[in-house]
Amino acid sequence: MTSSGIDSSAVALFSARESERFLSNNPQSVAMAERARASLYKGVPMHWMSDWSTPVPLFVSHAKGARFYDVDGHEYVDFCLGDTGTMFGHSPDPIAHAIAEQGARGLTTMLPGEDAIHCGELLSQRFGLPYWQVTTTATDANRFVVRWARAITQRKVLLVFDGCYHGTVDDVMVRCREGQTVHRSGLVGQAYDLTQYSRSIPFNDLEALEAALAQGDVAALLCEPAMTNIGMVLPDPGFMAKCRELTRRYGSLLVIDETHTISTGMGGCTRQWELDPDFFVVGKPIAGGVPCGVYGCSAEMAEAMASVGKGSSEETAGHGHSGMGTTLSANALAMHCMRANLEQVMTQQAYDHMLPLAAELAEGFRRVIRDHRLQWSVTQLGARCEFQFCPTPPKTGAQAEAAFHDELQMALHLYLINRGILITPFHNMTLCCPDTSREDVARLIETLDQGIGELLAIPG
Ligand code: PMP
Repeated sequence: MTSSGIDSSAVALFSARESERFLSNNPQSVAMAERARASLYKGVPMHWMSDWSTPVPLFVSHAKGARFYDVDGHEYVDFCLGDTGTMFGHSPDPIAHAIAEQGARGLTTMLPGEDAIHCGELLSQRFGLPYWQVTTTATDANRFVVRWARAITQRKVLLVFDGCYHGTVDDVMVRCREGQTVHRSGLVGQAYDLTQYSRSIPFNDLEALEAALAQGDVAALLCEPAMTNIGMVLPDPGFMAKCRELTRRYGSLLVIDETHTISTGMGGCTRQWELDPDFFVVGKPIAGGVPCGVYGCSAEMAEAMASVGKGSSEETAGHGHSGMGTTLSANALAMHCMRANLEQVMTQQAYDHMLPLAAELAEGFRRVIRDHRLQWSVTQLGARCEFQFCPTPPKTGAQAEAAFHDELQMALHLYLINRGILITPFHNMTLCCPDTSREDVARLIETLDQGIGELLAIPG
C-alpha cells in the first residue's frame, strides 16, 4: 500500500491523462522546451527547473502579484511564489520602482551607500539582533555563519536536524539513519567525508539533542524553527526554547534560519517565540525577490567575530580571503530593494492579509481530506500551509519523508497546473501573498477537491 492510501495504478492513469492534456494545451512551451534542449543542459537554465511535474518545463512570460502567465497565454494563481523568493507577490510596485530608480544610479560599486544604514537599522528593529551582514543568497549567509561559528567556538562539528535544508551548503548535506550520520542520498561530486564534522539528529528529539551537544564538540546547531523542506514539521511546544537552553549549556551557538519561516509574521518565529539566537539568517524574499540574503548576530557574537584570529596569522594574512563574501553581495541594487521591501512591502499590513487567508486554505484542505475520507493531515505556519499524506502531522523529518508519495504529489500538481494553479514542487506547500484573494483560495480548494474526486473514481 502507498503512504497516501491511493492506488499506484490509478495515479499512473491519472498522471498520463494530465500529461497529455498539458502537452496539447501548451504548444509554445513544448516548442521552447525543444529549442532550449540544444543550448541549455536539460533544456533549462538551472537544472532544478526540469524537476517539476510537467512533462516539459512550463515557460513563463511574466508575473505580477499573485499571478503569472505562461508563453501560451494561460493565467495562473501562484501559491508557490518562487518557493518563497516572492512571498510578498511578484514585482510589488515599490520593488519595481526601486529597481528602476537604482537601475539608473549604479548597480554595484563594492562600497556602501546610505541604503545600507537604513537596512541595518530596519533589520535590527525587526528581528532584534543588533549587527548585520548582507549576502547574495541564503545559502551564502548560512555558509558564512557556519564558518564564523567554527572560528568563534574553535569547535568543528555542525549539528543539524534530519531532513533539513539550508541551501547548497556542503556541511548540511547529511541525514540521520538509525542513529548514525550519513551522506544525503543523491549528493554529487562530494570529495570530503561530511560525517566527520557534521552531525544529524531527529527533530523534536530532546534526548538526541542533548546527547549530540554533550559531546562538547558542537560549534553550532543550525536549524529552522519549524522544518519546511521535507514537508512541514512543527516543533513540539517548548522544543525550540530547549534548543536555546541546551546549546547554551554545552557551549554551542544557536543559528536560526528563517528563510522560509519568515512566513510566520513580522520578525519570524524568532521574534514571536523569543528564540534569542546567536546568529539569524534570512534570504529569498528579504529584497522583494531580488537576490539577497542577510545574517544578523548578537553583540556578544560581534565581539567574538572581531577577536577571531587575533594574535595568529589569520589576523594579518590574506585581505578578503576569510572564505566569506562574494563580490556582488550587498550591491547597490539589492540594498535599495531591501530597503523598499522592509519599509513598504514586508509589512504588518501584508501579513494581516496573508495569515487569515492561509488559515482559510488550511481549513479548506482539511475539509477536502475529510470529505474524501483520506488519512492525510494539514500543517500551517503563518502564510505557509501544507497537506501531507499521513494521518497525523509528522514530528520528525523521517516521518515526513515516510509520508511522501511522489507520483501522487506530482500528478495532483500537474492537475492543478492544467487548471491554472501552481503550488510548490517536491511537496504540497502553499503560500498566500498580499495579492492572493479569498476567491483564489476557494479556487485551489475546489480544484483540488475535483482532482481528488476524479482520481478516486478511477478503478484501482
Ligand atoms: N534556508 C532555507 C530554510 C531554505 O529553505 C533555503 C532554500 N529553499 C535556503 C536556506 C537557501 O536559499 P537559496 O537557495 O536562496 O540560497
